Amino acid sequence: MQTEYRFETKCIYGNHDKLEGEPTGAISFPIYQTATYAHPEVGKSTGFDYSRLQNPTRAQVEKVVASLEGGVDALAFATGMAAITAMMELFQPGDHLITDADLYGGSIRLFHHVSEKNGISFTHINCSRDNAEEYIRENTKAIYIETPTNPMMNVTDIRKLSEIAKRHGLWLIVDNTFLSPYFQNPIALGADIVVHSGTKFLGGHNDTLAGFLVTSSQEIADRLRFLIKTVGSGLSPVDSWLILRGIKTLPVRMEKAQENAQAIAAFLQNTKGVKKVYYPGIPGTAGYEINKKQARGFGSMLTFEVESKELALHILKHTTLIPFAESLGGVETLLTYPCTQTHADVPETDRIANGITDCVLRLSAGLEAKEDLIEDLRQAFDSFYRE
Ligand code: PLP
Repeated sequence: MQTEYRFETKCIYGNHDKLEGEPTGAISFPIYQTATYAHPEVGKSTGFDYSRLQNPTRAQVEKVVASLEGGVDALAFATGMAAITAMMELFQPGDHLITDADLYGGSIRLFHHVSEKNGISFTHINCSRDNAEEYIRENTKAIYIETPTNPMMNVTDIRKLSEIAKRHGLWLIVDNTFLSPYFQNPIALGADIVVHSGTKFLGGHNDTLAGFLVTSSQEIADRLRFLIKTVGSGLSPVDSWLILRGIKTLPVRMEKAQENAQAIAAFLQNTKGVKKVYYPGIPGTAGYEINKKQARGFGSMLTFEVESKELALHILKHTTLIPFAESLGGVETLLTYPCTQTHADVPETDRIANGITDCVLRLSAGLEAKEDLIEDLRQAFDSFYRE
């Protein structure tokens, strides 16, 4: 290898010349649909022993994701939640974590219903506003955040938080799902572990589930490799291939989806019935300057609050193009109702304290013509006020 390739090139090849190590010269990396591998003799291995431990297609997607995030290693899991669950096995009973209060509801459910049972305790704060240092205890081991958060789009200063984490010997863990490595690289800002729901922008087509852990530390990588082989939640060969294919178009998809989100945010800001639009790309909003400093874009996720629950339910029922569905980051624009979908299992008082009321809708902008998306939203709003 001569050089460090640029991001778009890495999306196609990782950081390798051609398809290094692929003996047939296949341009599309093959799907190695095998459970096991023959050994030449006792004590010798091709490097692949059993697909729970290693699989060439999974190894290829891991190489690509590690290079996009600038990590020493990346591990591919069956889902984002499988990745976070494996990561939580790095901790011991008695350990304490500081997490943002506003996170994907499934992560909060895991922490409360599985990790707490395993003896791990949590303090939830607003990392974009509160000083995390004041909440560090003797047994605190890590700080876990999303930025921007799902769904309220709070932006946390990653570098500042990483300085606090380093001063106290804690790991900083950043779920980078919303911006993807195209717009933001938390490891370069001081994070120790980066989490992805690969189901979202990396896959990009609403057709595959996947998750990734990327780390800047060889020691953490070795521990995670032990865990993936032990708990057995690695990504299948076919799904690894689908994510590889999705990543090839990540840069063009991220740009187009962001363009659509910006147009939709501008439309919603001038629409009767919308009380507030949460999108970090709006100048003057809380997260704008920090996001601008630490990321290369604002992404394509936005959340908006409407004036009544009736209006929220009406919009979900009356868009004719945009589906009302969970998930995000795919080519299809989706509208989500966090209070009954992604955040249904978050205790109501916590949910409301974070601003996730029954008037809040989340939108993941896809790649359709922005005029069609805006027209669809316009007719849904208009029909509410006509009825
Ligand atoms: N992290 C974030 C920010 C998410 O939005 C999600 C799912 O929506 C997850 C993690 C979990 O990923 P998965 O659905 O792939 O398990």
